[in-house]
Amino acid sequence: MSSPQPNPGILDIAPYTPGKTPQPMAGRKVFKLSANETPLGPSPKAVAAFTAAAAHLEDYPEGTSRVLREAIGRVFGLDPDRIICGAGSDEILNLLAHTYLGQGDEAVMTTHGFLVYPIATKANGATPVIAPEREFTADVDAILARVTPRTKLVWLANPNNPTGTYLPFDEVKRLRAGLPPHVVLVLDAAYSDFVSRNDYQAGIELVATTDNTVMTHTFSKIHGLAALRVGWMFGPANIVDAVNRIRGPFNVSTPAMAAAAASIEDAGFLSHARAHNETWRAWLTDEIGKLGLKVTPSVANFVLIHFPTEAGRTAADADAFLTARGLVLRAVKNYQLPHALRLTVGTEEANRLVVAALREFLHG
Ligand SMILES: *Cc1c(COP(=O)(O)O)cnc(C)c1O
Repeated sequence: MSSPQPNPGILDIAPYTPGKTPQPMAGRKVFKLSANETPLGPSPKAVAAFTAAAAHLEDYPEGTSRVLREAIGRVFGLDPDRIICGAGSDEILNLLAHTYLGQGDEAVMTTHGFLVYPIATKANGATPVIAPEREFTADVDAILARVTPRTKLVWLANPNNPTGTYLPFDEVKRLRAGLPPHVVLVLDAAYSDFVSRNDYQAGIELVATTDNTVMTHTFSKIHGLAALRVGWMFGPANIVDAVNRIRGPFNVSTPAMAAAAASIEDAGFLSHARAHNETWRAWLTDEIGKLGLKVTPSVANFVLIHFPTEAGRTAADADAFLTARGLVLRAVKNYQLPHALRLTVGTEEANRLVVAALREFLHG
């Protein structure tokens, strides 16, 4: 071998492709509706805390994100010692994979599961095992049927991205009960703040009552702090202890920590963001449905729109048509959804423009 060889698995990884960033267009406003970012921006209190932190950029951050863990603990009623913060939940997901997966191991995920899961799995030499979904929804029996003696971890986004569907808490509990005790169940609750269903829970109760389940969460979505990269996990003491051993000592920056702590305690801002999403997600689902397109019922801050396969009306055609009008959605071919586009709920203006453009695309 003449050149350095990456570890096994690394070159099998298809690099993550983020949602397109719109090109500026002369004389036209452009709307990025491709990355599930909030249309409302962050809480003004988060911006003030971030700005105040600028006075001391020479100091290393407090290494355990204590202030932020305590704020999260207060809001969710959790023991701060059972929380780890990270540079986005992406870092946490990768730390979990690094802690529990290695050569010869398997990690189970679902057909349309979040693309970070196969990347984190392969990065550690383990094999992704795909469980089919039903109606674009995770299927507990299909996941359980794919568990083998090699299975070490199960990845489940609930709600899932890019489908927007969810599993009721009874189903999540049935999944946990059916998994061997040594298998870590990762419940990715990135979109849990947007769910208003009586049968849904993010998973805190399951984490608190088992020693093999973790819940991850993020400040990138409803909090509007994606640029700062802040995520967190709540886990049992044994998992928190193991993950903390490999976590970088200063993995969350001081301004990010301060902004996230201010945001999570701004209940008024968060309920406004939730209400905006609820109203416009329902409106988009209805209006796009009326145009004759199938929309998968979503509980998150985006909707998955399905297109016909006939030439001129495909998802790729719609993507090009909308992009030319400054409306940038997310193609989801690499999520095994070649005939769909994912649309993030936007401002009222963006939402109305998307529906008008889709009407023109389909009906001239
Ligand atoms: C957006 C998203 C995240 C959050 O990622 P961050 O690294 O915290 O920005 C996690 N999981 C899923 C399924 C997501 O869509």
